[in-house]
Amino acid sequence: MASSSSSSVPVVIYEEEEEELVMDDGSGSGWVEPRTSCDHLASLSSDLAHIPHPATPCSKCQHPMENWLCLSCKQVFCSRFVNKHMVDHHEQTPNHSVALSFSDLSVWCFVCDAYLDAQAIPTLRTVHQTAYLLKFGEDPPQLPSNDQCLQLGNE
Ligand SMILES: [Zn+2]
Ligand SMILES: [Zn+2]
Ligand SMILES: [Zn+2]
Repeated sequence: MASSSSSSVPVVIYEEEEEELVMDDGSGSGWVEPRTSCDHLASLSSDLAHIPHPATPCSKCQHPMENWLCLSCKQVFCSRFVNKHMVDHHEQTPNHSVALSFSDLSVWCFVCDAYLDAQAIPTLRTVHQTAYLLKFGEDPPQLPSNDQCLQLGNE
């Protein structure tokens, strides 16, 4: 006599957890990390050691402050909150896509549509440092380094 027991076997459903290999693109958070790379640096000026002073007015409308420096042709244009001449400049010359803000010395790439980390990109570090020096009259604060040579006088 086969008594078919109606014992219910618990069914375990394994939810396959896919490992998240995708980098967080910052779309759920309000804060967007500046990019540490940019493919649009080829058109940058080869001489970013010499740039206009941060107090240079917009070359189109003479707006006096918080302008942007095009890092390709080193012309100065006002922000999108004024007469958006920097935006116009990029639209007219699309390969001029990287600009430095004289307001807070951040670097923006119009093609990446993102801020760039000037400290992480050697090409930008130089011009950021130069702009900082022009704006504040001193070098930017350096990250503490362990390889500082302390010259101690041994008697
Ligand atoms: Zn870019
Ligand atoms: Zn302007
Ligand atoms: Zn330009």
